[in-house]
Parts: sequence; structure tokens; C-alpha cells
Amino acid sequence: MSEIVEHFVSGKPWTGSSERLSDVYDPNRGTVQRRVRLGMPSDVDEVVEVSAAAQREWAAWNPQRRARVLMRFLTLANEQMDELAALLSSEHGKTLPDARGDIQRGLEVIEFATGAPHLLKGEYSTDAGPGVDVYSMRQPLGVVAAITPFNFPAMIPLWKIGPALACGNAVVLKPSERDPSVPVRIAEMFVEAGLPPGVLNVVHGDKEVVDALLVHPDIAAVGFVGSTPIAEHVYSTATAHGKRAQCFGGAKNHLLVLPDADMDQAADALTGAAWGSAGQRCMAISVAVPVGEQTADLLVAKLAERARNLTVGRSDSETADLGPLVGADADERVRRAIQAGVDEGAELVVDGREVGAPEGGDGGWFMGGSLFDRVTTVMSLYRDEIFGPVLSVVRAANYDEALRVANGHRYGNGVAIFTRDGDAARDFASKVETGMVGVNVPIPVPIAYHTFGGWKASGFGDLNQHGPDSFKFYTRTKTVTSRWPSGIKDGASFVIPTMS
Ligand code: NAD
Repeated sequence: MSEIVEHFVSGKPWTGSSERLSDVYDPNRGTVQRRVRLGMPSDVDEVVEVSAAAQREWAAWNPQRRARVLMRFLTLANEQMDELAALLSSEHGKTLPDARGDIQRGLEVIEFATGAPHLLKGEYSTDAGPGVDVYSMRQPLGVVAAITPFNFPAMIPLWKIGPALACGNAVVLKPSERDPSVPVRIAEMFVEAGLPPGVLNVVHGDKEVVDALLVHPDIAAVGFVGSTPIAEHVYSTATAHGKRAQCFGGAKNHLLVLPDADMDQAADALTGAAWGSAGQRCMAISVAVPVGEQTADLLVAKLAERARNLTVGRSDSETADLGPLVGADADERVRRAIQAGVDEGAELVVDGREVGAPEGGDGGWFMGGSLFDRVTTVMSLYRDEIFGPVLSVVRAANYDEALRVANGHRYGNGVAIFTRDGDAARDFASKVETGMVGVNVPIPVPIAYHTFGGWKASGFGDLNQHGPDSFKFYTRTKTVTSRWPSGIKDGASFVIPTMS
């Protein structure tokens, strides 16, 4: 095994000082396909220094000029979509069409961020007092860190990089060590698009590198996406070291099905949202809450049929419904969770563990979709994030009980309701304690110009990802109060100025 994925610093591959390497697997085979360099704290010091020097020049570019780099990046990324998708799916395991979706959702945020000249405009008040004008400006923070998870190796880095760069910051990206190649390719493409070397750097690593970033005095802000325990650690450490932080964590997304819903539409929606990408999406639906026994019986029958007919295939498939899980640990965790569900007394209607590897997938981490019925809210199957292709059905007697179930969970990332009743949908959208809500939409990932973020244990920090919040997160506001003409002379005043 020769190929090593190196850090990317100052516009080129960089080895740093560490000799630690981590395996990058082919999830279709369970074999090591390359290795990634894992950095150390002294590497972080060097990368931050490079970033800080490059940021000063980058921030001096006018916003339109910066936006044009993003526009050229978009052209390159669209031209190379298929190569990027193939690389992404080969390390992650998601199918090719899903990999293209991963990249496309990221590019949509780059498209949004090209609006920087407009989005960075400040506010202006004339004649706030005699000859007094007040205006505000948004200025970049400096060097910011982005720490991202394995499950969207293009989309989530791009959600961070686009707005952060457009605002005039330099970015140190610490991608997941499980699928590091696409993040490096993205950074290379930014340089090809005209980004000055050093403005976007990639440093690979594990806890050592992350912790060094969290305490580094020249990192101004940290954007994190990953599991909740790490999100909590990153948020508390970064903020304790005076940094701005937004940290997005795990999820257990519910989908309520009311008796009046179109049952085929609801079952199709659940099929894609629960088992697509092998359930490895933070917006995957892992809990269905049908209202009433009749609704539940009908829904479970339709879901069981769909689960049995899922096509599990290699990640380079154009037609499979889902590919393999990302790694052996993920495979073991999901199998353990399914067994725990059986042991706790939930009814395993379809057992995805029985699905074997497809052709060319010997040794890979393949699993079909699992469906559990009669899951209760005390079971670990319900309480814990499984992050695999497992759907639990929790039966509710009525709408109020279904709403209580959704609100009772400690996570609050996404949620959906399927119904034809506008009153119920409106009540639900208002009362549910979740950051993102779908009405007859299973995966309510907001579009790029709105913001993305969960509540409760799914999100830590005040501002969301992408949309207008991202421009607030990656800038700080300066307010200038000025008085012209300069000839006004009203003597010294010892009283605080007011508008009286
Ligand atoms: P993870 O928490 O294991 O890793 C996320 C990042 O943190 C990676 O870069 C990893 O290298 C780093 N990391 C891991 N352990 C660390 C430690 N002890 N100290 C410091 N850094 C550490 O998450 P993952 O398995 O890569 O991704 C899956 C998780 O991410 C799921 O929980 C999923 O719900 C969540 N997720 C959330 C969102 C969201 O927007 N809320 C989006 C995508 C994924």
C-alpha cells in the first residue's frame, strides 16, 4: 500500500512532522485502499501560521473578486463531478447518484456564497444626530477551523468553506480521516480556481489535531459537525478558549404519519429517508410514528414489502438503493443495536442482517434495511442514534401522543409529518421542538439560502449553517458613528450622548 493522503497546505501536499498514518478503507471489500497522514499539534501551529499570513491578503480583496474565485470553483467542480463522485463513493460507500447529490448540495452553498458582495453590505443611518451618520460593516474573523464528519465528505466541508472564504477568512479544514480524499481535491480545485495558496488548508488527524485547533490562540472560530459527544466537547473547549463556535451533533429524526396521509407516499418517503445511504445521514428518518392502530398496520405492511425489495449494491452502482456501511465499527455497532432491539422485545419485521454481499462485494460491510415494529420510547433502539439502515415504528394512539413522542426525544435535528390536514400540519410545525421540519417532505434539509441547524442535543451554538446565519457566523460587526461637517463645535460634554 503506497498511496498516502497528505495534508494540503500553501497550495500543495505537505507531510508535516508526524509519522502516524490511518487506514482508509474500501467499504465494498473491507480492504485498505490507501492511508491518510494524521497530524500532530506542531503541524497545527505551522498550518495556522500559514493561514494567518494568507488571510491578511485575502481579506484585502474586494468581496466581488473573492466571489469570482468561488464562481470559477463551481465551474471546475461541475466539470469534474463524475470523478469527484467516484472518489467520494469509493471511500464512503454511498452509491454514485447519492455521491453526486452530496457534492451538488455543497455546491449550492457555494452558489449562495457568491452573493457575498450583497450579503456583506452593512447598515447605514444618516442624521442620527446633528451631522451624525452611523454605519456598520461586517469584517472577517481571521483564521477559522472546520471539523467535519465522514458522512458528507463534500457537502459539509463546502458548507463551511464557501461562506467562510467569501467573508474573507482563511480556513483550516480538518475532514474525517475515514474519507479524506475528496476534501483534499476540493482544496486543490480552489487553488486551481485562483484562491491564493494558504487561504484554504487541509490538515488531517484525529483528537490530537482537533484539540490543538480548539485551543490555538489564532483560531477565531470553530465550525464542527459530527456526533453529539464530540460536538459537546468541541463546543465547550472552543468557547472556553474564547472562540466563536457552532457545533452540530447527532439525530433521531421522527416522521409522523396521520391516518389521512397518502400511505404509499408516506411509505415511499420513509423507504428513501430511512434506508438510503445505509441510514448514514444526520437527516435520515429513524423513527416512524403512525397515529392509530389501523394506520400503523397499513404502514408497517407497506414498509415491510419495500424493505424486502431494497437493492443493496456496491458503491460504484448507478442503480442500487444503498451501498455498504462506512467501516467495520459501524457494521458492528448497527448489528449490536439490532440485536439489542430484539432482546428488548421490539418486533423485528425485516432483518437487514440477513442480506448478503452483492457481486464484487465479498468482505464489504453490506446490510439490508431493517424494520422494527412496536418499539417503545424506553428501548435503546429508540433512545440511541444508530446511524445505520434501521427504522423503528413507535405506535401512537393519537396526534397529541405522537407529538409528545417527537418532543420527548433528546435530539431535535429534523422531523416530518405526513398528512392532508393543513390544521394539523400547521399545529405541528409550530409546536414541535426540532430545528428543521418537513410537511409531506421526508428529509427537510433546508435549501442553501435558508439555514440548517438542529435543536437540543443536535446543535450547540447560536447560529446555523449556511444561509444568512453563515455570513453572521463568519464575520464580526463593527459600527461607526461619525460626525460631519467637522466644523461643529459644542464644547466638552460630560453626559452620555442620547438621542433626546
Ligand atoms: P464523529 O463525531 O466521530 O467525527 C466528527 C469529526 O470529529 C471528525 O473529523 C473526527 O475526526 C473528529 N473526532 C472524532 N473523535 C474525536 C475526539 N474524541 N475528539 C476530537 N475530535 C474527534 O462523527 P462521524 O462518525 O464522522 O459522523 C457521524 C455523526 O455526525 C453522526 O452522529 C451524525 O448524526 C452526525 N452528523 C450531524 C450532522 C448535523 O448537521 N447535525 C450532519 C452530519 C453528520
